[in-house]
This record gives sequence, structure tokens and C-alpha cells, in this order.
Amino acid sequence: MPVITFFNTLGRSMEEFKPLVPGKVGFYGCGPTVYNYAHIGNLRTYVFEDILVRSLRRFGLDVTHVMNITDVGHLSGDDDSGEDKMLRSAKERGQSVLQIASYYTDAFFADTERLGIARPDVVCKATEHVQDMIRLIRRIEAGGYTYSAGGNLYFDVSKFPRYGELANLRLEELKAGARIEVDENKKNPQDFVLWFTKSKFENQALIWDSPWGRGYPGWHVECSAMSMKYLGESFDIHAGGVDHIPVHHTNEIAQSEAATGKPWVRYWLHAEFLVMDKGKMSKSKGNFITLQNLLDGGFEALDYRYFCLGGHYRSQLSFSDDAMAQARASRKAMLEKFLDLRTHAGTAEVPNRSRLHAGVLARLERFDKLLAEDLAVPRALAELWGLLKDPSLPPADVVAAALDMDTVLGIGLAGARREEKSLSDEERSKIQALVDRRTEAKKAKNWAEADALRQELKDLGIVLEDGPRGTVWKQLKA
Ligand code: AMP
Ligand code: ZN
Repeated sequence: MPVITFFNTLGRSMEEFKPLVPGKVGFYGCGPTVYNYAHIGNLRTYVFEDILVRSLRRFGLDVTHVMNITDVGHLSGDDDSGEDKMLRSAKERGQSVLQIASYYTDAFFADTERLGIARPDVVCKATEHVQDMIRLIRRIEAGGYTYSAGGNLYFDVSKFPRYGELANLRLEELKAGARIEVDENKKNPQDFVLWFTKSKFENQALIWDSPWGRGYPGWHVECSAMSMKYLGESFDIHAGGVDHIPVHHTNEIAQSEAATGKPWVRYWLHAEFLVMDKGKMSKSKGNFITLQNLLDGGFEALDYRYFCLGGHYRSQLSFSDDAMAQARASRKAMLEKFLDLRTHAGTAEVPNRSRLHAGVLARLERFDKLLAEDLAVPRALAELWGLLKDPSLPPADVVAAALDMDTVLGIGLAGARREEKSLSDEERSKIQALVDRRTEAKKAKNWAEADALRQELKDLGIVLEDGPRGTVWKQLKA
């Protein structure tokens, strides 16, 4: 296993990754708020998380991947301002909140499946874990970190000295900065709601009894409660998009560590945004592109995955029609190159790693090293290209190594099929003439010539099947 390093947002530096329990990794990634389709920006973050999980597993680590589904409590402003996202969507579509949640959860997993994203080991819905949240809030309250105001229970950030460490926030500066306070109940603008009772929304659809009155949990507390339920009070990695650093993840840390008194998450990994020339893609504003839009435009889902692999997760990635078309063309070229090599490798068993050609093995080792260096995926992809294009390497070994690399990259090499090319009459008679010559050679027991002709046909993409009624030929589907 190579040395694994990650850029930890907490502390802003590269750090060697050492799991809390050797050989095991607890990983939590914030899941979608299911009031609308995921946009391709959200999906970029999930592709990154998938590569992370697959890389860790490749290095022999036993990963438990937990993802929440936010189906309650997320307001349009992460700082408790605005409307309830689920409720607004339900009203607009004339359905119940749970119907909306179920529809968009299914749509989310249909998208992630098409993108080859492995399903997390645990998928947990906020509405099914409200008792866990209530228990956690009671612990936070018992530690003296909360206050009630206007019917809601707030987390008091001034009681948690390390508040804002993840985002390098300085509370004093924030306080001094001109900022219009949206919630007059808050003592500090950064205070956040743990439990809502006096909702500003009439007819809140989903409410629960709690020690603080009938109401519903704040958004941030769900991730703390569910991650700890499935991964323990301290775990290895938490990931999400960069937008979550200053509020959501900052608040998750404060309330989790306030409740347990222990360090919570050890490595924080954040994916930069997918950006468009037309500005920020936003689910709540409705100006976004979905995976289905791309499929309707003639792309394959894995073309989008390939597009994502072209940028390092910590850099912004610019989406445009041209860039997407380029990704499709590159992926197609890669599949074709791979299929050619597979044809040349024949149907022989591909060698296992221990018996690979030294040049191929060296490339595989470099590939692993690149992944281990904070997921240098664009360079790992270039390594795969280098492998496929190196004429000095034996095709069967290249095929084996490429398939191995693709277990992380997920471009679809294993399932690649060449469409049967339509043959002209001229090509057909040329093939038939070669087949007949081989039959003659066999009759004359001229095995060397028969074999040479079989090889010549194979190079043309034709395979032969000798049967009781003579020899039939067909195109080789790689
Ligand atoms: P949400 O469903 O809004 O909670 O977002 C789901 C995930 O997508 C979160 O991890 C966000 O940080 C991430 N995200 C949101 N917008 C973008 C974007 N434009 N590019 C990449 N990731 C994003
Ligand atoms: Zn979260």
C-alpha cells in the first residue's frame, strides 16, 4: 500500500492519512436534499467521493461509507434563513413532502448508478433518525451550549471556543462586519437552530414531539447524529462541497464536539465547484443542468464521469458544451484503443498482477501512487492513456492493467463493446477467400499456413469456429 496523503481542510495542509483503526475507514459524505433533481455540480462532488472510496478500497482499506438523505429541516439559506426547501417543493408540485422526498431520492440513486457511483454502505434518511437527533441535542444542552429563544433551541457559538476553526472564521471580525441579522432571536449571527418549534412556516408537514416542544430538527444536527450513529463518535473522513465549509460543516463540528467532548472528524476533504460561464448552478434557483439533460443531448452518463476525471477535485471545473463534447470524444477514443488491444490480446487469459510485464507493472505502481497523493485523478487518467498508447508493451498485460485501473476510474472499459461494423461485399469476399485458403491448408495438413491465415483473419477482426459442417466466421466483438 502506498503512503496516502490528503489535503485536510482542517489545518489547510497535506497530511498523511492514518485511519483511527488500522485497516478500517469510517467515511461520511453529506447526501442530497431531496426536493429536486441533483444537478451535475452536485454529481461532480459525488463522483469525487466515489473515487475516494474506490481508491481507499484499492489500497486494501475496509471502508464504511455513510450518506444521509436530507428530507427535513433544510432551509434555503444554510444559516436558517429563507424557506423550507422540501415544503416549498411539495407545495409547488401539489404533493406531500414524503412523496417529493421519495421521488427525488430514487431519481438521485438512478443518476449515481448511471455514473457508476457505488452505493454507500449506509444510506440514512433524516426523518427516520429524529430520535437520534433529539438524544444528541439533549447532550449538547446538558453541556450548557444552548439557549431557547422565540420558541427555538439555538446553539450558542460563543460557548465553543474552537468555533470556525475549519473555515478560519474569526468571530470578532464577523461580529464587527456589517451584516443584516435575519433572525432576531440569535445572540450571535453564527448561532444556529438545533430544534425549531415556532416555525415561521405555517403547516409544517413533518413535526415530532421533543423536550423543547413539537417541532423539527435543524439541518446541521442530522449529519452529526447520523454519522456518529453509524461510524462512532470519532471517525476518519468527512467530505462534501466547498460551500459547506463556512456554515454547515463548521456547525456540525461545533455541535458534535460539544456533545461528546472528543475530536470528531480527523480529515476533512472538500470538492471545489463545477462552474458554468453563466454563473453558479443552483438547485434552488432552478438554473441547472441535470444528468438527464446530458443524456437527452446524446451523451452517455460515463462521458460525464470522464469529464469530471479531467479536473482535480480541489480545482474548479468549468462546464461547457464544448468541454463535454471533448470528453465524449476522448472517452470514445479510449474505448476504441482498449478494444483494439483486446482484439490483439486475443481471448487468452489476462495475466494477474504478479505476472505482469515489468513496464506495465511500473505504470500500475505510478497510477497507485498518483491516487495516493491527494487523488491526482487527472494524472492517473493520463497514466492510463500512456499505458494504452505504449506500443512496446504486450497487449494482454496492458488490457489487464487497464481493467485494473478502471476499477477506480470507472470509465466503462470492462463493458466496452465494439459495434459490429457493416462489411462491404468486397470485404466479405476477401474474408471468405482467406477462410477457404485456410480450409485447403488444413486439408493439406499444412498447419503453419492454416495458423498464419487464422492470425491474418484475427487481425481483420474475424474469428473462426470450426464445426462439423465446416468453418464459419464472424466478427470479433471485443
Ligand atoms: P445539496 O443537495 O444542495 O445539499 O448538495 C449536495 C452536494 O453537492 C453538497 O456536497 C454540495 O456541497 C455539493 N454542491 C453543490 N453545488 C455544487 C457545484 N456547483 N459543484 C460541485 N458540488 C456542488
Ligand atoms: Zn452534512
